[in-house]
Formats: sequence, structure tokens, C-alpha cells
Amino acid sequence: MRKPKIVILGAGYGGIITSKKLEKLLKSGEADVTLINKHEYHYITTQLHKTGAGTAVDRQIAMEIPDLIDPDKTTFKKASVTGVDVQKQAVHLEGGESVDYDYLLIALGFDIETFGIPGIKEHAFAIRSFRSTKAIYNQIIRQLSLYKEDKDPSRLTFVVAGGGFTGVEMLGELAEGLPKLCKKYDVPFDEVKIVAVEAAASVIPFFPKESIQYTTEVLENFNIQLHMSTKILECTPEKVVLENDIEIPTRTLIWSCGVKGNPIVQDCGLPVIKNKLPVDSFLRVQDMKNIFSIGDCSLFMKDEKNALPPTAQVALQEADVCAKNIVATIRGGSLKAFEYHHKGSVASIGTFAAVGKVGSFRLSGLFGAFMKQVIEARYLLNLGGPSLIIKQHFGFSKEPVKVTANQ
Ligand SMILES: Cc1cc2nc3c(=O)[nH]c(=O)nc-3n(C[C@H](O)[C@H](O)[C@H](O)COP(=O)(O)OP(=O)(O)OC[C@H]3O[C@@H](n4cnc5c(N)ncnc54)[C@H](O)[C@@H]3O)c2cc1C
Repeated sequence: MRKPKIVILGAGYGGIITSKKLEKLLKSGEADVTLINKHEYHYITTQLHKTGAGTAVDRQIAMEIPDLIDPDKTTFKKASVTGVDVQKQAVHLEGGESVDYDYLLIALGFDIETFGIPGIKEHAFAIRSFRSTKAIYNQIIRQLSLYKEDKDPSRLTFVVAGGGFTGVEMLGELAEGLPKLCKKYDVPFDEVKIVAVEAAASVIPFFPKESIQYTTEVLENFNIQLHMSTKILECTPEKVVLENDIEIPTRTLIWSCGVKGNPIVQDCGLPVIKNKLPVDSFLRVQDMKNIFSIGDCSLFMKDEKNALPPTAQVALQEADVCAKNIVATIRGGSLKAFEYHHKGSVASIGTFAAVGKVGSFRLSGLFGAFMKQVIEARYLLNLGGPSLIIKQHFGFSKEPVKVTANQ
């Protein structure tokens, strides 16, 4: 009998964990599983700010996918997905190749929302992928080197747009990483400016006021200039224009102001709401029996008005239920409705401070930073067991990761 073909698009948090769960759930020979990702590596998205600031080596953040999966159970294919033909049950790849599926999981993650602000798409540096944050690091190094030649102060001004979790993590990491880079490249750190711009009245505006106050103090102690309640109007290669006639001469605007679903999902002939694939309670794309979607490219309504946020925590919990539901569909069993359990959120502000909430506990300071490490370690445990934690913390290779595919 022909084996059903399961194809998973995207080996980010949602995709790779689903494939690992399927490895456990499927009986030998029960189905063919193919995992498709544009890069050879899986990256720890929640640590990308470290790549941007140069505070982690490549291999701590990006891991070879073939090392993370069981090649006897999952076939990995490095390829960029360009579209899905729902009628023909085929996935189209860059270069013209197609892969047929019986069951499809779309877990292609997010893209950057620029809100149509002039110059952002062209000139800002996005925290989007391992490749894009490597570009931030390379930009910093380039500006430090060029400053030595022309002493143009705009080269040493680094602006982070967005004071949400990702922006705060990037700011903390820059504050810690830049002094070391300046020393290495023999540039005076005293001349460096780190600037935060946020449209809301404060950083992490969705958090209790004690957390906001704590975060603001840590950032100010790092000498970071905060422009709150201020919108960015334009970005050029040499400046950022803000409201109230403020212009900041800079070559580096780091953009962390929101995400939307991967644009590939727009043209697949599937229903799309707010740039994302709406899914039912079983994580199947609306009106589809054999196409599932999880993570940042999917839209799961937790109630009539509110969708689940685009977080790793959501993608990971969905992966667990999605794997079970794919197997149940193949076996003709009953599907499990997805229920999200929020366990808390913690953002690092450099190595020794963090802010967040776990359960009803408000976290900050060193203990918060420790909890952030625990959360990251738990993910590695899920992904590759204790040996992966040891490898990532002590035995990682210093060999740089080659980045080829775009984004
Ligand atoms: C800096 C940063 C910090 C964050 N911190 C936190 C945090 O502390 N806690 C938290 O819960 N969430 C955090 N998030 C959000 C979290 O990382 C995302 O919600 C999560 O990665 C979503 O998982 P996903 O599987 O949907 O997508 P992703 O993890 O983005 O995976 C998508 C995968 O699809 C691949 N892909 C994309 N397009 C194609 C294509 N055309 N063809 C083939 N492959 C493709 C990508 O290469 C990637 O491997 C953070 C995000 C960022 C950027």
C-alpha cells in the first residue's frame, strides 16, 4: 500500500518540533515525512539579538538540521518554498521542483511589518532570521571600521526601533556587546550612542508599571537614550527622521516593530486573514482537512476577538497537538482541540538582567536572567535532549555558519 506523504514547510520552532514529535508517534513505515527549510540550519529565534550584537558564536544560535532529526524517519530537504498548489496537492520550490503531499503542515513563520514607513524596507536592519541578524553584526563591524577613517559620528549611533520584548533584548545586548567590539576594533566606546525609539509611552507597554520602571532604569543605566511616544517617519541610509522634527544621523536602524505572516501564504489559494492562515481548533487551515498551519504564519483565535500572539511558546505548544492531529487524521482517529496555556514571558536585558512574568510572579534582575536561561535550556532539551544542552553551552564549534538563501 502507498504510504501517506507528510510534508512540513519550515524548520523553525513549530516545524522542527512537529517533525520530532512525528518521529515518536508514527510507527515504522507508517508515513513518509519530509521537512523542507530554506536553510541547512535551524536557528534559535529567541536568541537572535545575540547574533546581531556579536555576543554569541554562530553555532550557539544556528544548528545543522540533519543533526537534529532522525534521518531514518524524516527526510530533510534544503529548499525555498515558493508556493503551494492546493488542487494538485503539491509544494513548489525555487528552481522549479515540486514535492507532492497528502498531508501538509505550513509553519513558515513571520515576515517583518514595516507599516509602509518610507525607507524601512530598503535601509533598516530587521531582526528576522539568523541571516538578517548576521547582517546587523556585519553592519556594526563595517561602521566601526569606517569610523576610524572618517570619524563620522553617525557611524557610531545605533538606533533600535521598537521597545517591545525583542527591541529591549536587542538594546541590552548592544549595550553589552558594543564595548567589547569597540575595544577589538580600537574605537572609543565613549563616542558610541545607543538610541531606543518607541511609539508607545514606554518600553514593554503591555507589562505592569513596576516592570516598565525596572526596564527603563536598566536601559538608562546602560546610557541608552530613550525616545518614547515618538513615531519614526522615515529612514534613509544616513539618518532616521522622527516626529517632532527630530533627526538622528545614523547608518544603522535596527527594526523590531512587529511581524506579519510569511507572504508566501498569501498566494496559495488558501483563506488568509490579516496576512495569516486562519486555523480551526484542530490547527487545520480553515475548510481544509489535510492542511495544518501553526506558529507565526497561522491565526488561531483564542476567543471571538483575540488571536494568539506570534510567540515561540504558542508555536511549540501547537506543534505538540498538531503532530498528534496529523497522526490521528492518517489513522482515521479523533482529533484533539488545541488549548493554549500561557506559562509566562521573560526578556533578557543583557546577561545579568531580565524582566518578565512567570505564572503570577513578576520577575526582574539576576533571577529573571537565570529564568531566561532555564527557558532556553528547556527548549534545547526538547529539541535534542541533554547532549544538545551540553554541546551548545560547552562544546560548540567556532566554525562560522554559511548563509546563502535570502532572508
Ligand atoms: C529576537 C527575537 C526574540 C524573541 N523572543 C521570544 C521569546 O523570548 N519568547 C517567545 O515565546 N517568542 C519569542 N520570539 C518569537 C518567536 O521566535 C516566534 O514566535 C517563533 O520563532 C515562531 O515560530 P515559527 O515556527 O512559526 O516560525 P520560525 O521559528 O520563524 O520558523 C520559520 C522557518 O521557516 C523557514 N522559512 C521561511 N520561509 C521559507 C521558505 N520560503 N522556504 C523554506 N523555508 C522557509 C525559516 O527559515 C524558518 O526556519 C522572539 C522573536 C525574535 C525575532
